[in-house]
This record gives sequence, structure tokens and C-alpha cells, in this order.
Amino acid sequence: MALIVQKYGGSSLATIDKIKLVAEKIVAEKRAGNKIVVVVSAMGKTTDNLISMAMEITPSPPEKEMDILLSTGEMVSVALLCISIESCGESAEGLPGYFAGIKTDSSHTKARIQMIEPSRILKELENDNIVIIAGFQGLSPENAITTLGRGGSDLTAIAIAAAVKADRCDIYTDVDGVFTADPNIVPEAKHIPEISYDEMLEMASTGAKVMLSRAVEFAKRYNVPFSVKSTFGKGEGTMVKELSLREGADVSAVSLDEKQAKITIFRVPDRPGVSSKIFMALGKENINVDVIVQNVSKDNFADISFTVNITEVEKALKISEAIGKELGAENVLCDRDIAKISIIGLGMMNHPGVAGRMFQALAKVGTNIEMISTSEIKISCVIKRVDGQKALKAVHKEFIES
Ligand code: ASP
Ligand code: MG
Repeated sequence: MALIVQKYGGSSLATIDKIKLVAEKIVAEKRAGNKIVVVVSAMGKTTDNLISMAMEITPSPPEKEMDILLSTGEMVSVALLCISIESCGESAEGLPGYFAGIKTDSSHTKARIQMIEPSRILKELENDNIVIIAGFQGLSPENAITTLGRGGSDLTAIAIAAAVKADRCDIYTDVDGVFTADPNIVPEAKHIPEISYDEMLEMASTGAKVMLSRAVEFAKRYNVPFSVKSTFGKGEGTMVKELSLREGADVSAVSLDEKQAKITIFRVPDRPGVSSKIFMALGKENINVDVIVQNVSKDNFADISFTVNITEVEKALKISEAIGKELGAENVLCDRDIAKISIIGLGMMNHPGVAGRMFQALAKVGTNIEMISTSEIKISCVIKRVDGQKALKAVHKEFIES
């Protein structure tokens, strides 16, 4: 007998028929002699629809009330899944976040989990119930409903798995785990059976969004191995866990982020405090800056370029123009047509020459590199967006197919 935590995403619960199929899957695991805790997301596009409704009233609805509103989406899934399970003849107990012992801080719409008090979950399991928990929500110290930020059900599942000391944590979604590249662009992409937390985190930050990064970070910190599987497919999925350096492969995966934009501030004075001024201002407005490059200074002036997500570019541009003016910069320009291609692999640490091979693969298909950034297990290049898919195929061929 094992204690299993399962999480089902919104696409797996998008219709009543899908909910019934999910219920059958859960019941089968239960009848195989396991104890089951299930974390659910809201059905399909429910959360988006709830947000649009509030926005019809006001463009900036109060966050506390937004949390009450958004938490209802997951509750619908809980109730319908419990009804389905009970009509299969098993008993289920549905719990909103506040009954499941999920305690968060008070930052509404982006709350952080502070602790999980699992006694109610454990009691329901003892009573032989299948426990169905609403993902993405918790309770603040003021006894208000909070939500954890978009995609937060992944985090709920990992945190619950840690709190109940689950034997297994399975994240069910609409893809069969992680691939060496996006199979929609690279048909030769291969399924990856297991990957380290760190590689998974780098993949999320380079555009291969399979799971919420915060959930992977939490899993790494508390060492909660988990698998990502397809709900209705037959595949084995991908196991994410702590891995030691592997012999063999240098690069595990190649990813392409087509949602990037680049801002360049030309001719700012090259002296201490200038970069901090720019990036503190962006940080204060919660803008996530990715690749940063400062060119070699000529006559005590430098150009500073950085990339941001395309959704934040207008805001970032405004701030950069204001700071640029203040610093006496010559000009601020923005390129909205860039992409970022990255190679990721734990094995890179003991394989020299990986960067050269990546740049050569890009050169061979006529792709110019505009910026480069590296970590121990990742190399990213900023390129023109029109070159993105061609570059992805070429780099995948170099490292994975040969
Ligand atoms: N329903 C929430 C969202 O759409 C949480 C989740 O799906 O994980 O962001
Ligand atoms: Mg989701």
C-alpha cells in the first residue's frame, strides 16, 4: 500500500466526461490498495473567465475579493470530482484549502504557503476516504481566503506531498512529461524519462513551461521527487528528482522562448551606481529582467541591453526611458522581435566545448547571436525571433540527434 498524491490540471478536468474519466482513474488506484490524496485545478479556462468577469466591473478589482472569486473555480472541480467518485461506489471527502490546513501569508493573489497542518487530511485517509483538495488556495493569518498565483495548484500538490510524506506524487497534465525540445516544433524530440530539479527549473526559465517554477523550487528544497504524466495517455511520464552528474549526455534539452523583447539604453555614463539605478527601478515595478549585457566602455560611456518578457516590455520601456533621461543617456531602443534559445544539461559541467558547438550550430544556419548568458548547467543565446525555430532544430540536431 502506498500513499499517493495526484494533481490534475484544468485541461484534464475541462468537461464532465473528463472528470468522470479522472474519477475512474482515481478509483482504480484506490482499489489497487492505495491511499489517495488528489489536488485539483479549476475546470478548463474557468480561472480566466472569472478574472474577465471581475475586469468587466473594474480594471483593478480588489485582491482580497479576487481571491474569494478565484477560489470558487477549484471548488467546482472538487465537488464534481467527489460526486463522480461517489457514484463509482467509493467514498470521497472534498476539502477547500482552509480545511486542508494550508496556511499562507496575507499577500492576496500571490500568497506564499507558510505551513501545512495535515491532521484533517490524515484523519480522512484513516477513515478510508479518497481526499480531494482544492488547489491554488489557502487561508491567511486573518482567516481570509488566499490564492497562490496562477498555476498555483502545482505548488499545492508538492507541498501536500511533503506534508503527508507521500510515497509518490504524480502531476497529471496534457503532455507526457518533458521532452528534449518542443515536439510541436522538433518532431525528432525525445521523451526524457528522468531529469533533475535544477534542469527542470532551467527549462521553466528558458521557455519550456511544463510546471510552475515555484513548485519545482519547493520540491527541490524539501526533496519531494515527483513525476509529470499525461492524464489520458499511456506514457510513463518524466520523473523529476535529485540526480548526480550523469556520465554520457552533455545536453539534456533544448528550449526556445519566443516571448522575449530587448531594451537597449545607449551611452550611459560608465560609473558605479548606474546599473543599479536602472535595475532597481525595474525591480521595484516587479519586472523580471532576464539576459543583461553591458558593452565595453568607450570614453567612459557604455550601452546596456537587457531582455524582458514581451508582456512586460511597454512597462519596462517606460521606466527605462525615464531613467535614461535622468542619466543623460543618448537613446533608448526596443526590439520586440527576439527569441531566446537555450541548451540545458547537468552533464555540461564536465564537458568542455559545449558553448562552441552551440554557436557553430547557430552559425551554420545563418543565425546571428545578439546576447549570451550562461549558468553552470545552461547556455542561452538571444537571437532574432524569425530565426528561432530553425535555430532550435539545428541545435537539437547537434546535441540530441547525433
Ligand atoms: N486555476 C488556477 C489557474 O488557472 C490555478 C491552477 O490551475 O493551477 O491559474
Ligand atoms: Mg494549471
